[in-house]
Amino acid sequence: MSSDTDKKITVTSPLLPDLDEFTALLREIWGSKWITNNGSFHGRLEKELCEYLKVPYISLFTNGTLPLITSLQALRITGEVITTPYSFVATTHSLWWNGIKPVFVDIDPVTGNIDPDRIEAAITPRTTAIMPVHVYGQPCDTERIQRIADTYGLKVIYDAAHAFGVEVNGKSLLNAGDVSTLSFHATKVYNTIEGGALVMHDEEMKRRIDYLKNFGFKNEVEVMAPGINSKMDEVRAAYGLLNLRQVDKAIAARKRTAGIYRVALQDVEGVRCIQDSPGVRHNYSYFPIFIDAEKYGMNRDELYIKMKESNVLGRRYFYPLISEFTTYRGLPSAKPSNLPNAHKLANSVICLPMYHNLTDRDMDRVVECIIKK
Ligand SMILES: *Cc1c(COP(=O)(O)O)cnc(C)c1O
Repeated sequence: MSSDTDKKITVTSPLLPDLDEFTALLREIWGSKWITNNGSFHGRLEKELCEYLKVPYISLFTNGTLPLITSLQALRITGEVITTPYSFVATTHSLWWNGIKPVFVDIDPVTGNIDPDRIEAAITPRTTAIMPVHVYGQPCDTERIQRIADTYGLKVIYDAAHAFGVEVNGKSLLNAGDVSTLSFHATKVYNTIEGGALVMHDEEMKRRIDYLKNFGFKNEVEVMAPGINSKMDEVRAAYGLLNLRQVDKAIAARKRTAGIYRVALQDVEGVRCIQDSPGVRHNYSYFPIFIDAEKYGMNRDELYIKMKESNVLGRRYFYPLISEFTTYRGLPSAKPSNLPNAHKLANSVICLPMYHNLTDRDMDRVVECIIKK
């Protein structure tokens, strides 16, 4: 008898719009012959995202890395920027692309977010900004970080790639700091295939960013700064409008999965699950578990391989740390002795399969794999 355990359970699966509805919108685009450069779907998506996310201004991008790079340009950040090694590599690459020196600060061992207690010690006369990440969509201590930034006259750029729709006490997390960036990559909670956005507080910044993402063109004849091309096209904006209508349903399904995983794993010794925080509307973008090898009786990599052999694909996210990649490992702040909590988390984490249409049977298989040793 063939068994359903031959079926691979992937770690993620993209939220896709209904193909017929998408085709209808494509017909509209074909009819208008306006396929990029601030078309009507682009305008509609910016407006609807502002409403959905409860933010005043948003600028769409072609991915989630370019708003990081572009906002550093817009805010004229130079010198050194304090950031976290526990993130996707794009966070630090955006600094490197601007000729900025990253200064890594260790993380909180529970949330995985930059530890505010360690930021001040890393500030030098060359420090101009802080770039934290809301890891797995868990909110950073934005008030503490803002107080430090205000005291030292620093800008704060949040990499909020994981934090789509996350709210704290009914308010968007994306309004923290000077700007926040989003990624709409296929693997994220909300996707436009590839795509991203920058969230800002004022119209002036919105205008500046809109010029910068279109080569710096202010009008037909004036270029205000050396901009880049990172505009979102009409096809992906239309796709994004359709996905926005179903993202709440997708988040609700993810929440249910998180609940099932938590209950099933609560008594497994040596396995810690990510938890919800009071007052936070989470988006369940990832479901990391952290393995204590001694208590669990198997280390993270052994479990990762065992899962793979059972066709359950986890992801060691984030491992290796950004500070371990060749570009960055020579930096003084990249020394492992400076980042003990980050190393510990990176060596213990596995993100479990998490997406909107994961079946109950698939969840059972994931859980069985972890429980049965
Ligand atoms: C996905 C991601 C990015 C990059 O986004 P892309 O859309 O893939 O360019 C940046 N930072 C973090 C934390 C991410 O997870």
